[in-house]
Amino acid sequence: MTGAVCMRCAKRYRVYDGPCPDCGPEGVLDIELDLDVARRSINPRTLSARPRDQWRYRELLPLPAGARVAPLQVGWTPIADAPRLARWVGLRSLRVKDEGRNPTASFKDRASGVGVARALAGRARVVACASTGNAASSLAGAAASVGLTSVIFVPEFAPEPKVAQLLVFGARVIRVAGTYDQTWELCQRACDAYGWYNRNAAVNPSLVEGKKTCGLEIAEQLGAEVPDWVAVSVGDGCTIAGTWKGLREMRALGFISRLPRMLGVQAEGARPLVDAFERGRDVEPGPAETLADSICVGHPRNWRKALRAVRESKGAFVAVPDEAILDAMREAGRLAGIFGEPAGVAGLAGLRKAVQERIVSRRAIALTVVTGSGLKDVKSALRAVGGPVTLRPDDAELAAYLRERPV
Ligand SMILES: *Cc1c(COP(=O)(O)O)cnc(C)c1O
Repeated sequence: MTGAVCMRCAKRYRVYDGPCPDCGPEGVLDIELDLDVARRSINPRTLSARPRDQWRYRELLPLPAGARVAPLQVGWTPIADAPRLARWVGLRSLRVKDEGRNPTASFKDRASGVGVARALAGRARVVACASTGNAASSLAGAAASVGLTSVIFVPEFAPEPKVAQLLVFGARVIRVAGTYDQTWELCQRACDAYGWYNRNAAVNPSLVEGKKTCGLEIAEQLGAEVPDWVAVSVGDGCTIAGTWKGLREMRALGFISRLPRMLGVQAEGARPLVDAFERGRDVEPGPAETLADSICVGHPRNWRKALRAVRESKGAFVAVPDEAILDAMREAGRLAGIFGEPAGVAGLAGLRKAVQERIVSRRAIALTVVTGSGLKDVKSALRAVGGPVTLRPDDAELAAYLRERPV
């Protein structure tokens, strides 16, 4: 790492565990690294001998020398070919990277892995974050694995399975009677007041570096078959920014010869980045209402990085209604055997819309990142698919039912 640059005022800093002191939370830092140094040790030959987790890219991550990391396997999630789902989306070829296969079942494990390593290196005792669930459970799980205390602020609408996960990991859970944005601000103030390590990804640039490993993996796993488009859902914007940064670094390191275009997908009810992109303006905070809790964000904290990723890649932003997200939840399961939470499949819903609107060509090869497991929001899953039939344990009743509804 060579330092960090403020996304707002472009000033450079040598340390990077918070936002730009001059700009405050609006001044999110972006960590810079010397890829010429990394090139000496990161190439297909050296990587082939390394463990299949996010630490295989340690030279590209802001880890202090000799850093201790959580003993959980984060990353190297599988990429599946999904030909039947591709047809539903309207594409020739579709691949799905299933982030539900991480230790706490979401993409957020990538960021929390780096956050916890840095907290340990800084001798923090308590780590904290605000989250609708996934950042929180990933932090709580990683903290539990190394014996750190976690304090988690969740908004009231956080789905029950995610809250249960937090409590199982032994976190101190503070449910806030307010919006996600208010919850986030309360956590910020608490970290300042009590000196806790702040895992909020938008103000802590190290966490976006952790998310970068998704892009690094897509490039390493697919190599010459790198897709034309990568679709991900967008809340605060760290996921899309991190994925893009990882892809760019892998091109600079020679793993891929061209870059995909990034498709950012938001829910209709929480679409400040879509609006900013369409109007060519800065983001203005707006309303946030969607059943996809993980992207229910009205004030995206990392909007500059997200807009930059989409613009640099010549990509696009689209918004999808909640019904389309529920459709995608059902079809990803039915046609590909992949169970994603609403925000997890919003990228898929957006990809389908982008094909219909001819933003993405039908001949394109696309990859969508399913960012979190469907088990995290069973209520929405049941809304998408309905319930099962209930019968008595009786052969005649079963036969009658099957006559009515043949398999
Ligand atoms: C956090 C999250 C996102 C969005 O990531 P941002 O960095 O907030 O844009 C998408 N899907 C899931 C499942 C998430 O947990």
